[in-house]
Amino acid sequence: MFKFAFNPSRTAIRRGVAGFLVVCAGLTSRTAAPAPADWFPDPPALRHYVWSYQPCLGCVEYAAPPDWRRMAALAGLQTVRFIHSPDESLGPAYSAAPDVIVLTPSALKLEACQLAFVIGHEIVHIAQRHFDEDANAFSVYSGKPGNWTDRGEDAMQLSEGNFGLALRVSHLWQAQEQEADWVGALLAAQASGCSIESGALAYFRQEIEAGGGVAAAHAPSMERIRQLLPFADAAKRLVELGPR
Ligand SMILES: [Zn+2]
Repeated sequence: MFKFAFNPSRTAIRRGVAGFLVVCAGLTSRTAAPAPADWFPDPPALRHYVWSYQPCLGCVEYAAPPDWRRMAALAGLQTVRFIHSPDESLGPAYSAAPDVIVLTPSALKLEACQLAFVIGHEIVHIAQRHFDEDANAFSVYSGKPGNWTDRGEDAMQLSEGNFGLALRVSHLWQAQEQEADWVGALLAAQASGCSIESGALAYFRQEIEAGGGVAAAHAPSMERIRQLLPFADAAKRLVELGPR
C-alpha cells in the first residue's frame, strides 16, 4: 500500500519490507499509546516480532503535517516515522516494519486529499500489524514450530524464492489491502476532512488515467473503487465530525 502510489501494490511493499530492516524494540517509548477512534478495528491478537529498519540510501526524516499525526493517533499509534526517499523504484509510497512510512517526490506531488488517503492506508498497515501477520503466516505455512524466531525478517525470508508460499499467503494480502483502503479512507476523512471522492477515488482514478490503456493494469484500481463506494456515507459523517 499503500505498501504503494503509493502504488499500493503489494509487491512493492513486500520489497520495501525486505529492503529495510530495523529496529523496534529499542524505540519503544514509555509514553502510553493514544486510544484509537471508537470505530477503528481492533488489531489481530498476534505475537509481536522484532523488526529492524535500516534507513534507505539518501533517505531523510520528513516533517509530517498535523493531520498525518492525527491519523496516527486515531489509529492508536504512538509513533510513526515519516521518511523521504529519492528512490521511486518501490513506488510512490510504502510502509516498512515496524513503524516507518516512506514517501517519494511523486507522492508529495499528489493533491492533499489523495496523499492523505495514501498516508492513511499505510498507517493502517502499521496499526493493524500486517507485517506481524505476514511473518506469522509465513512461519505457519512453512511448518515452523511456535516461537522459532523473534525476528520478523527471519520469517519474511521464508518466502524468498518460494512462489508456492507466496500464493498461499496471497489471500491474506488481499484482505490486508482492502482493510487498509477503507480504514485509511476513513482516517483521511476524520483527520483531514477528505471525502472518499476527493481522496481514495480521486487517487485511483488518476492511477487509471496514468496507466495508458492497458486494461489488465486498470482492473485492480477499478475493483478498489468499487469496494470503497459502500464507505462513502461513513466518510461523509466523519468529515462532518472533524478531528477529535
Ligand atoms: Zn497497502
